[in-house]
Amino acid sequence: METREMERNISRLASNRDNRYEEGILGIWNRYTVGIAGERFLRHIKDEGKIYGSRCPKCKALYLPARMFCEMCFTEIPDENWEEVGLSGKLYSFSVVYRDINEKLLDKPVVVGIVEFGSPTARLVHFLGEVEPNKLKIGAKFEAVLKDRSERKGSILDIKYFRPVAR
Ligand SMILES: [Zn+2]
Repeated sequence: METREMERNISRLASNRDNRYEEGILGIWNRYTVGIAGERFLRHIKDEGKIYGSRCPKCKALYLPARMFCEMCFTEIPDENWEEVGLSGKLYSFSVVYRDINEKLLDKPVVVGIVEFGSPTARLVHFLGEVEPNKLKIGAKFEAVLKDRSERKGSILDIKYFRPVAR
């Protein structure tokens, strides 16, 4: 596009209601790294089938996924402050998803939830399974269902989903 043409297009946008768009596919690639603490957190799940959090030595905040620094007081969290949090927590929130990213109706709704492990700083967002969406209750106990060890890849999806703990 010529510079003069670009200036003309820019000057035409006098209001944020003048929406414009381009159709097509953008070639955008990225590589996401989970960092040192993220890798260790995922390795515990992959190799041991255990979920670990890290606790700040100063203010005692528990982090899940485990982190190397406290977000509250910026204290470094040493390795010995990592602790197993078990495989179950309480349902903090959830959402029932009926459509895919292209707004196409799904054959079956997908349920996504936030499971809290005893602290507001220790929550995991994940799929909920073996649930009836209209019977979900905030505060109900949910447990992680892990893939078989041979199928785990070091991804958060090594946890297949969280399911209600039968009472
Ligand atoms: Zn702290």
